[in-house]
Amino acid sequence: LASRAFKEEDTVISVGDIKIGGEQIHIMAGPCAVESREQLFEAAEIVKAAGATILRGGAFKPRTSPYSFQGLEEQGLKYLAEARERTGLKIVTEVMDANTLPMVAEYADILQIGTRNMQNFFLLREVAKVDKPVLLKRGASATIEEWLMAAEYIMAGGNYNVILCERGIRTFENYTRNTLDLSAVPVVKHLSHLPVIVDPSHALGKWRFVPSMAVAAVAAGADGLLIEVHPNPAEALCDGPQSLTPENFQALMKDLGKVAEAVGRKL
Ligand code: PEP
Ligand code: MN
Repeated sequence: LASRAFKEEDTVISVGDIKIGGEQIHIMAGPCAVESREQLFEAAEIVKAAGATILRGGAFKPRTSPYSFQGLEEQGLKYLAEARERTGLKIVTEVMDANTLPMVAEYADILQIGTRNMQNFFLLREVAKVDKPVLLKRGASATIEEWLMAAEYIMAGGNYNVILCERGIRTFENYTRNTLDLSAVPVVKHLSHLPVIVDPSHALGKWRFVPSMAVAAVAAGADGLLIEVHPNPAEALCDGPQSLTPENFQALMKDLGKVAEAVGRKL
């Protein structure tokens, strides 16, 4: 179902009044985690003003250490819904398990499956039953074929609205947090009709390198980007080192507008 051989034309996914996979490139931006009402609203205003169409923010966080901030859970989802009402931005947020799926689906416009859950086949089957688009991140050690098979699980279960997200893979290189596999963009576009977006923030892990890879991703044909932006990265409870400041994000959006135009698309 996910393959280009099965369906030749590009899939365009509607999220309310916006379309992912069409002419317009969509920027999903916001903090790693929803930390407070104030922090989220500030981030939402910043990314909206700069031209993003979708607000990201985790309410359930898959942290490596059990002692790290785990997210505000339902309260975080409520803040996201409130931010949507205030700004008109759509909401993408991670769902970590089947137990909390009904709750997350009540608030989110797009359900994010994180890299750690890409092969949680039970969860994939559960999101397949929900009438919401799914943002499926590539597993950190998943081949492109395994990633497409994970998308296949969701589609086989009846949900055809899958957005693929390259977020970096594990390699021997450890200067960056992961290694951004930009080649996955043209390869997946060749193999599949599904929209592909790129998350340079989790791939690089260091904010300094995020803008150049964001620009490169659009040049490579990505349908959108997922970018971490925090009103004050130094005080972030999660992923501060890779988060762009409001100023850096605004500057990046200007550059992205130019690249989008150069490749015949809109931002
Ligand atoms: C995230 O987007 O906040 C996240 C946890 O990403 P990943 O699953 O790619 O690590
Ligand atoms: Mn993060």
